Amino acid sequence: RSNAEKFEFQAEVSRLMDIIINSLYSNKDIFLREIISNASDALDKIRFLSLVDKEVLGEGDTAKLEIQIKLDKEKKILSIRDRGIGMTKEDLIKNLGTIAKSGTSAFVEKMQTSGDLNLIGQFGVGFYSVYLVADYVEVISKHNDDKQYVWESKADGAFAISEDTWNEPLGRGTEIKLHLREEAGEYLEESKLKDLVKKYSEFINFPIHLWASKEVDVEVTSDEDETSDEETSKSSTSEEGEDEDTEKSEDEETEKKPKTKKAKETTYEWELLNDVKAIWLRSPKDVTDEEYTKFYQSLVKEFGDEKPMSWTHFTAEGDVEFKAVLFVPPKAPHDLYESYYNTNKANLKLYVRRVFISDEFDELLPKYLSFLKGLVDSDTLPLNVSREMLQQHSSLKTIKKKLIRKALDMIRKIAEEDPDESSDKDKTEVDTSSDDDEKKGQYTKFWNEFGKSIKLGIVEDATNRNRLAKLLRFESTKSDGKLTSLDQYISRMKPGQKDIFYITGTNKEQLEKSPFLERLKKKNYEVIFFTDPVDEYLMQYLMDYEDKKFQNVSKEGLKLERDSKTKELKETFKELTKWWKGALASENVDDVKISNRLDNTPCVVVTSKFGWSANMERIMQSQTL
Ligand code: ADP
Ligand code: MG
Repeated sequence: RSNAEKFEFQAEVSRLMDIIINSLYSNKDIFLREIISNASDALDKIRFLSLVDKEVLGEGDTAKLEIQIKLDKEKKILSIRDRGIGMTKEDLIKNLGTIAKSGTSAFVEKMQTSGDLNLIGQFGVGFYSVYLVADYVEVISKHNDDKQYVWESKADGAFAISEDTWNEPLGRGTEIKLHLREEAGEYLEESKLKDLVKKYSEFINFPIHLWASKEVDVEVTSDEDETSDEETSKSSTSEEGEDEDTEKSEDEETEKKPKTKKAKETTYEWELLNDVKAIWLRSPKDVTDEEYTKFYQSLVKEFGDEKPMSWTHFTAEGDVEFKAVLFVPPKAPHDLYESYYNTNKANLKLYVRRVFISDEFDELLPKYLSFLKGLVDSDTLPLNVSREMLQQHSSLKTIKKKLIRKALDMIRKIAEEDPDESSDKDKTEVDTSSDDDEKKGQYTKFWNEFGKSIKLGIVEDATNRNRLAKLLRFESTKSDGKLTSLDQYISRMKPGQKDIFYITGTNKEQLEKSPFLERLKKKNYEVIFFTDPVDEYLMQYLMDYEDKKFQNVSKEGLKLERDSKTKELKETFKELTKWWKGALASENVDDVKISNRLDNTPCVVVTSKFGWSANMERIMQSQTL
């Protein structure tokens, strides 16, 4: 084309395309999901802009927010068109070729080892998956701010952009024309496309239409005088029908009625492929577990066999109305805590009255719950304001508060439904339903993945501290190598025991040998082992639980039951302790006291009540957090 401008793909993008083209990956279907997902994003964008300015939508068909799929069997072209925001010439150059996204090289690297191409969408390079099935791709696009352009590439390291003077004007939006490879002929079958949309794009909130063929029975009415038998029978496809009709017409002839002939004809019409009723608008009792799982996968663009650990779906009513679905993912992302203090990762999508607003809105959940995925659809927030203004909106606080409550309830339920969690005495009460197996050990799994988040929550969220403390798990001198909870600890407390005892250190094995435990063990008191560096911080915030104080057994103030001997001993050794205190310089110790915390060990150095524990000193020195 005379007006075409040539560009080279950015190097990483070029490598990515080579990998895709030469891939032996068998599940090529994923390209359609990626293209539809981009179309849906583009539609979300124009709808969002239209909140402020309705004009951007245009008129007539251009204003219809939809996706259309068309097949051309002869030319072997599959086209997917949307009436989304479209791309300007500059957008086409940048988005489809010259600017590599941060995920590009990560994806390339992954593919070189044992990566799964299925995850391409998560790396932000889903578009290029079209080259799994096509060897030549045209992207026709019209943005409100620019003319219509065509981007085209045969994935040979270069692409071309031309002003579009030959295609039909799109009005607004994008049409992707895939010139399918020889072996990708199956994507010209309507049934295949219908199946794929059902399978992968169920949760797209815009109508997806297929230009589908339909065999229809047509009745060809003919008036004896005007139409001859010969002519009518030509359009019939069924010979038997023809015979019948002929017979009939012979009978009817005498009665001078107009005769009708049945015929088959292929017509085309737009067929709606998806059910656009959003899952969160449906009643939770009508949504199956499988649907929630698939919805989760579509949210996180993770299309494997990953099942969410748990979910909650609810409607909040009252002054602030909203619907929400929250999921606990099966695994923590590898960088969840790495970047904890630097980034605010938003994982909830925000909708206002069905309109997608943002997935970068981090005011919906506190940081410590940022591992949750899901969506909030608010009826109360105003539609036509900017994201910045939403941030200030008063109902946001209420939404956040309710989301936290529901999230914590959901997590508590994982524990309640886990047969491993119930102590022996309640075991008989737990019904042994068929999904027990699936729930078994779930809370331990949750704790191993996200336990640190719960601890950080205790530090950060004073309002919900007690609720979060209920979710804490740890090992103790009596937990027998398993995890136990504060409630379980309390149920095992000795009569007369006032405080909850704990000890902090690097690992259980070392703590078990600690002289601080000698007497407590001998007297059969249970002591919690806190071995995570974050536990030291945690215990600075968690002062008490269910009216019981926490007592670090390596700190001053440890009180076991009253012991009349202690007073006597104090008196007997008064002179010795006095001498000792004098002998040790005051910058080394605060005090020397008679203690009842030891059994075999003659003496021990303890930390003062408000000082750092020895473990904390160690942490501060190594700066592990
Ligand atoms: P991602 O969707 O994760 O951003 P993709 O590789 O799928 O990554 O798409 C790259 C970019 O190309 C998108 O971010 C978007 O800017 C642009 N794009 C792709 N398809 C369309 C479309 N149908 N309409 C408008 N822009 C699009
Ligand atoms: Mg995409």
